[in-house]
Order: sequence, then C-alpha cells, then structure tokens
Amino acid sequence: MKILVANLGSTSLKWRLFDFSNHAERLLHKGGFERVTDYPKAIEDCLAALQAAGVIASESDLAAVGFKTVIARDVTGCVRLDDQVLAAMAAYNGLAPAHNPPYITGIKLFAQRMPSVPLIGLFETAFYQFAPEAMTRYAVPAAWHAAGIRRWSFHGASHKFVAERSAELLGRDDVASRARRLYLDGGPASLQGAPPLRVISCHLGGSSSVTGILNGAAIGSSMGMSPQSGLPQNNRVGDLDAEAIPYAVKTLGLTLEEAQRQLSKESGLKGLSGLSNDMREIAGAAAQGHAGARLALDHFVCSARHWIGAFFLELNGADALVFTAGIGENQAEIRAAICANLDGLGLQLDLAKNAATRATEAVISTPDSQVKILVVPTNEELVVARETKRFLDNLTTL
Ligand code: ADP
Repeated sequence: MKILVANLGSTSLKWRLFDFSNHAERLLHKGGFERVTDYPKAIEDCLAALQAAGVIASESDLAAVGFKTVIARDVTGCVRLDDQVLAAMAAYNGLAPAHNPPYITGIKLFAQRMPSVPLIGLFETAFYQFAPEAMTRYAVPAAWHAAGIRRWSFHGASHKFVAERSAELLGRDDVASRARRLYLDGGPASLQGAPPLRVISCHLGGSSSVTGILNGAAIGSSMGMSPQSGLPQNNRVGDLDAEAIPYAVKTLGLTLEEAQRQLSKESGLKGLSGLSNDMREIAGAAAQGHAGARLALDHFVCSARHWIGAFFLELNGADALVFTAGIGENQAEIRAAICANLDGLGLQLDLAKNAATRATEAVISTPDSQVKILVVPTNEELVVARETKRFLDNLTTL
C-alpha cells in the first residue's frame, strides 16, 4: 500500500511516499518544490518525479494522499477531505491564516487531478480531542468559546509519534497498541487494571510545545488557540497577558496589525536575544557571554520547565520525559538545563549519555532515575501516513 504525504505551503509543495507492504514501513521517495507559482503544474511535476524514480507507474498506484491539516470547525481526527471538511477548514481560516487557505486550495487541486484517489487529512488538533474540557477551555464568555476561542493545541502529529514510540520503548505494548488505535477507538481504551503510563513530551524546535500524555492520549498542551502561546517560539511571542496587546496599541501607537506582526515576527527567541531566532546561534552566543542570548536561553528553559511541571502535577508524576524536534533532539546543553536539579522529583540526567546523544533515539537518564528521560526523533510525515493507512484499513474491516 503506497501513501503519498503532501505538505502544502502557499508557494511550496513537499512530499514523501511511504510503502506499507509486508508489515514494513518504507520511505520510497521524498522531494519538493519551493517558490511554486503554478500549483497544478507542481502536482503534475510531483507525479512525474515519482514516476521517473520508478516508485509509481501512475497515480492509481496511490492508495491515498495524506495531509497534515491544521484545524477545522467541529472536525478533527483523521478524516476524508470531502467538501464538507474543506468548508469546515475554511470556517477557521482566521485561526490558521498561514496554513488553512493553501491547504484548501491544494487539496482541491489534488482532488481535480486524481478524483479516484482518497484524500485524507490528519488534523494537528486531533491528538487533543480527548483532553479534559477543564484543560482546553479559556475562561471567556460562552459566545467566545463558540467562536473557536479555546485551547486547540498543535504539533499533534509529533506528540502522537512520541506517545506511540515512548510506550514501545518503555515496554508498554498494551499502551502502544491503544495509542495506535486512538482515533479509531474514539479515545483511550481502558488498560484493564494495568498501571497508567504518564509521559511528558517536549517538542522543542522552530516552534515548541510541551504535551502531557496519559495512556497514549494527550491530556493537554502548552499551545493554545494558536501556536502563538506556550513556550517562546523562534520569532513568536509565546504566552502573553491578554491585556498586553491593547495596551501596546494604545501606548506605543501601533496599529493592531503592526502589533500582531511584531508579536509573530520580532518576538520569541529573536526578540529576547536581539540576535537570532536559531537556538544554535543563541546557545553559542550565550556561552560567549552575550546577555540577550543568555536571557533568551534562560527564558526558554524556564518556560519549558514551567509546562513540564504543570503536567508532572496533573499526571501525578511521570514515567518518562521525552525530548524531540530540532532543539530537543540535537541540543544537549538545553536538555541538561531543563533537567537540572530535578532529583527531588525523581529525574536524574546521565550527563555523559546526554552529551553524546544527537539526532538519535536514546535513554539519557541514569539507571536509578525514577523518571526515564528519552530522546525520540520525531517523524510527522510518517504519522500522517500511518494514520491514513489505519483509516483505510478500518474502512475495509468495517
Ligand atoms: P521546525 O519547527 O521549523 O520544523 P526544527 O524542529 O528543525 O524546526 O527546529 C529548529 C530549531 O532546532 C532551531 O532553533 C535550531 O537551532 C535547532 N536545531 C535544528 N537542527 C539542529 C542541529 N542539527 N543541531 C542543533 N540544533 C538544531
């Protein structure tokens, strides 16, 4: 079974082709185009590239195309992208202005080009659909909530990958198999008396979030209605008091649009460091004594610890703390700063193992650490392909 995962930007098309034959998962091809001006042609060129590579003879070899869609009104999970779902995505264009419009346009073009190939979307919000309401509500009037102003949370594909893989690594196949079936079962199934599995997943990268995971399902996340909240992001602000924006508009004489631009382009790690939005550069400069870089790094670490602490309490402890994404997988010094002085909570980092771990799966806690500390490289496209496959398999077994 061959599944194409297409990543759609307003001027980019990237893809990966997976094959799930014989119980194996294989990446057959990956590629992409930037600065796309003619999207129908880009889709045509993608198919031509797959044919030239000999991995498909025609689009009829594709069991489906999977998309990492972001958000839609009253729709989440892994679903077929029909006209109703596309309309539900359009209804929330305002919540994901950079993502929903290009996805809707691109998906319609895929549908025109290959009407017989199922188009399946895995929404980034899917992983949070079973989180308790108390964790996802904002304390706003009911009409605001009805308009979509609530904690939706994002990075769902990445944290779902961590949920499944960490359960496997911790020897909890019972949880791993429930995590795999989460969307098909409509929520976490009972563990039938087995102890709970409590995981705190830290996706630290260009954008960052911390998610609490109980028995393979998210209980909450640091991200909110938009990816503007939670940890400071590369250029984006992270958590901010709701009064700050009207105050800045009035006292700094900014338009609302300019305030929004500054919060999404000039803030976060870039704004704090006054130097860069890249954590590699920030960590290097902090080590050389750059005050802004030191502040950005320290703020990032404080914020990560704040959210880890929140989920540690909510989960009544943790079995594992997991690091993933660009910073989490590669930057040992940031992992060490986040894990410093937590022995009172049962977390003991093995400093040598941590320092030696880069972009690879590893246990980086000491053998005595009650809470295992893991590095798990994420693979969001694979999650989209896997969920698409599960969706199709489920259709045939219904
Ligand atoms: P995105 O969210 O855009 O997918 P990534 O997950 O690739 O981003 O993370 C980007 C961040 O991760 C950057 O701040 C960068 O400093 C850090 N990073 C990425 N790759 C590496 C690496 N090989 N070594 C150290 N840091 C890295």
